[in-house]
Amino acid sequence: MDVFDVVIVGSGPAGMGAAFELALKSPNLSILIIDQERFSTGGMRNDCKMNFTFPIGFPEEYWTKEQAEHYLEKAALYLKPNIMEKSNIAVYQRRARRLGCRLLEIRQAHLGTDGGLILIKRLLAELNALGITLALGETMLAVNNDNHYITTDKRDIFYKTLLLAPGRKGFHFLQMMLQTLGVPFVDNIVDIGIRVETRLEHYPIVQDYYDPKFYFPEKVRTFCTNSGNAHVVKEKYTTARGDVWYSVNGHAYSADSKNANGLVNFAILKTVKFTAPLASGQAYAENLGLQAALMGGGRPLMQRVGDFRLGTRSKETSFNADLYDFQPSLKDCCPGDISLAVPAKILRVIWKAMKNLDTIVPGVLHPSTIMYYPEIKLYANKPVYLDNHFRVKDRVFLAGDGAGTSRGITGAWASGIRSAEGILKTLASTSKD
Ligand SMILES: Cc1cc2nc3c(=O)[nH]c(=O)nc-3n(C[C@H](O)[C@H](O)[C@H](O)COP(=O)(O)OP(=O)(O)OC[C@H]3O[C@@H](n4cnc5c(N)ncnc54)[C@H](O)[C@@H]3O)c2cc1C
Repeated sequence: MDVFDVVIVGSGPAGMGAAFELALKSPNLSILIIDQERFSTGGMRNDCKMNFTFPIGFPEEYWTKEQAEHYLEKAALYLKPNIMEKSNIAVYQRRARRLGCRLLEIRQAHLGTDGGLILIKRLLAELNALGITLALGETMLAVNNDNHYITTDKRDIFYKTLLLAPGRKGFHFLQMMLQTLGVPFVDNIVDIGIRVETRLEHYPIVQDYYDPKFYFPEKVRTFCTNSGNAHVVKEKYTTARGDVWYSVNGHAYSADSKNANGLVNFAILKTVKFTAPLASGQAYAENLGLQAALMGGGRPLMQRVGDFRLGTRSKETSFNADLYDFQPSLKDCCPGDISLAVPAKILRVIWKAMKNLDTIVPGVLHPSTIMYYPEIKLYANKPVYLDNHFRVKDRVFLAGDGAGTSRGITGAWASGIRSAEGILKTLASTSKD
């Protein structure tokens, strides 16, 4: 029989942050991390820019500035960020302020997708040296908290405490576990938007500030900027009925990579919150994703800004003709008309934000700029937490993006540490029983 003091599901930054904290504070604990992927570890494999300033990555309903700073300091001990220099920020901030927008100044490090892999390998070696067991290619399927065991596709594993940190892709899985455990939750918030791709010279701010965080009116913001050797990618999602849709995303390789493609990509997202009637953000997002897939023949949509302005769809030729002078980095995408797929209210505020951005960083609305749709972030499961350590049931804790406690690598790591502190308290009290 497999029995562990702590079973952690998910080897992303939330799971890792927890594992390191547990092993550091209580070296004799038996700790198992499982992950359904054959290679570790979650979202640190993607671009790996790390933000070290509140509130980036920290949902404000769960974090104060002081708390976030306290845990960020701990996370930095393991992530060892090399904070990047920024320049000319005051100029952009002044222009933004004049338009009623904000440019946040964030402490950032960027490893790139290749650099992230090196970090992961180092962290895995350290976890191994601490005696933590890692089971890759093993998927958790069910939980029985009355008898304290989980069922995976390979075996039953008994736990004293359980941490679920399945990330954004595990959003649906987590909802199923919450239902089994009888934990009430809502998922009424979702971020919906587009990914913009343009030439470096049309968005030169990235040479001063790698991932500039602009906040626009009406809950619109820029998010996850990548440059250098930067690529737009697709993420596959499957609905409960088995229908497939794609969200776009972006990443880049490390700065010293020899293959810079001269492109920049970033998301512009609008936060949508349902109140009455209370609706599921996931269900809404799925419907939008499916609609885009329907129009794109199963693929996401892309449109040149020049075509969008003229009110015409983009065609294959829009990606070859001389004015439109660069090829999309995401090849498997359908030229079309995003305004037929994006809800009017969302498109209106995003386009307004882009016009503001074009005034702050002139050039971004060049006719060749590509708008990809949809980019959707499903990280707003909001379970009812029983304490400050993201406990949802006796012995069961959550952490990371899937649980709504973070929105990025550093926030996920920090939330893992917070859960680990609760796990240690629970273990201390159960050992007295
Ligand atoms: C393309 C892309 C680029 C990104 N770029 C950045 C960036 O530059 N900076 C940044 O801060 N954030 C970035 N993010 C977001 C970042 O990846 C997440 O915020 C972060 O990884 C969340 O950490 P997590 O531990 O909560 O989940 P994850 O890192 O997603 O880890 C969850 C793990 O749980 C596993 N899992 C899920 N369900 C199960 C199950 N049932 N059984 C077993 N294992 C399971 C998954 O395989 C996964 O490995 C990016 C995301 C993507 C997709």
